[in-house]
Amino acid sequence: MSGIRSPAPGADRASLAVDVIIAGCGPTGAMLAAELRLHDVRVLVLEKETVPASFVRIVGLHIRSLELMEMRGLLERFLEKGRQRPASGFFAAITTPAPEGLDSAHAYLLGIPRPVVDRLLEEHAIELGAQVRRGCAVVDVEQDDAGVTVELADGEQLRSRYLVGCDGARSSVRKLLGVGFPGEPSRNDTLMGEMEMGVPQEEIAAKVREIGETNRRFSLRPFGEGVYQIIVPVAGVTDRAEPPTLEDFRRHLRTIAGTDFGVHSPRWLSRFGDATRLAERYRVGRVLLAGDAAHIHPPTGGQGLNLGIQDAFNLGWKLAAEVDGWAPVGLLDSYHTERRPVAADVLDNTRAQMELLSLEPGAQAVRRLVSELLDFQEVNRYLVEKITAIGVRYDFGEGHELLGRRMRDVGLKRGRLYGLMHGGRGLLLDQTGRLSVAGWADRIDHIVDVVDDAAELDLTAALLRPDGHVAWVGEDQQDLLRALPRWFGAAVS
Ligand SMILES: Cc1cc2nc3c(=O)[nH]c(=O)nc-3n(C[C@H](O)[C@H](O)[C@H](O)COP(=O)(O)OP(=O)(O)OC[C@H]3O[C@@H](n4cnc5c(N)ncnc54)[C@H](O)[C@@H]3O)c2cc1C
Repeated sequence: MSGIRSPAPGADRASLAVDVIIAGCGPTGAMLAAELRLHDVRVLVLEKETVPASFVRIVGLHIRSLELMEMRGLLERFLEKGRQRPASGFFAAITTPAPEGLDSAHAYLLGIPRPVVDRLLEEHAIELGAQVRRGCAVVDVEQDDAGVTVELADGEQLRSRYLVGCDGARSSVRKLLGVGFPGEPSRNDTLMGEMEMGVPQEEIAAKVREIGETNRRFSLRPFGEGVYQIIVPVAGVTDRAEPPTLEDFRRHLRTIAGTDFGVHSPRWLSRFGDATRLAERYRVGRVLLAGDAAHIHPPTGGQGLNLGIQDAFNLGWKLAAEVDGWAPVGLLDSYHTERRPVAADVLDNTRAQMELLSLEPGAQAVRRLVSELLDFQEVNRYLVEKITAIGVRYDFGEGHELLGRRMRDVGLKRGRLYGLMHGGRGLLLDQTGRLSVAGWADRIDHIVDVVDDAAELDLTAALLRPDGHVAWVGEDQQDLLRALPRWFGAAVS
């Protein structure tokens, strides 16, 4: 059934029970569902797995993602379940300390178990009214002028106005759309798992120190209650779909360490590669792609999940505007033009990091050079801002240095800026007291007399999009009136 079909069988918003179907309830899908619900979009999330994954891998949430959580009132929940660490050591695991004065109220990394991230985001989406159906694999997709028909593995067909494929690296939605996914196949494979060890701790620690001097892709660390997390690089993988066994771990540990440490009682075992690919298009008609469905790369720097959450933040309000009928021409397409270059940049920085992790003498020499360069604060800051995504600037054209960038969380007279953005609406910060967004009051909040301290916000007025990026900076009402329709559509009289 897959493909684009026309003409439409006629399905306006009122005749459909659901506005947007999201395939996949990973972090990207759950975050997107919540963002859409902020705007009363009727959302159905279809998840293939019947129960959430339970393996306890720790992932890192970077500064921009922590800021987004704060912007939606979720950060406390995450902080309770995670551990804050310095915002450093991301780039190819080079251990230079974080640069001074990072421009964020949340300048740290939050290490947090992956299942907790998934659970908190899913709970947030459900609290806001999203429906999540588990055990529902999307197997076919057909779209027409009015909507999308989605077929599930059991043959059930569902219809909505839009579909977003948040269904991970092997995305069925991307394949059904026929969207190209060019890039490089995996060259370096890694086994990862948690298990118990049969030798004393001192013996393990000595061996890990010895291997760590030359091999930066090997890691073995205690995870509590006698369990260790093991990461072992492997060569010569022929079948990546085949799940790894404990015997695979034993064999590769012997190759690298000369001993298998008597590993036993695995909690979970997995395998990942360093394939690097980017979808050619993020949108085909009424179907969009987000998260790993649109981009894959090695986990160096811990960026994939963060990137997916940030995709969802960029797409949510735009798709909601489309569903609600006020989206200006080009708004939904700006999801592709803004987010695809960001992903391309992440792919590139992971390619660079993989080179720096190589044991070849030339790569090691470049690594030493990069380590020296990182002693320069500006170089260090540039890379940390890149990996943590606070350096992202969308191309909104010429203008103020903040245009297209995210605004950091600043202290305002009425409280913290991000505290005023929980509803996912646009925001006009206005120190002139003369500006007006009267025709857009249903989409934009207007705050007059913003700060006491100019050091907190050194500009006269700024318009923020719901994702916190600066859409306009100025002080002139006519200038503002020219900028508003680009992001917020026509004024309502
Ligand atoms: C070892 C390792 C460590 C990592 N560490 C980090 C880190 O520290 N920080 C970081 O940012 N990233 C990290 N990543 C990357 C991160 O795990 C991914 O980028 C992230 O999971 C992507 O989220 P997603 O929601 O887009 O996709 P996924 O998490 O893959 O979720 C996709 C969901 O879609 C479901 N699904 C699939 N097919 C269908 C279908 N046909 N119909 C319905 N549902 C479907 C799946 O069951 C799944 O629940 C790491 C990855 C690895 C391998």
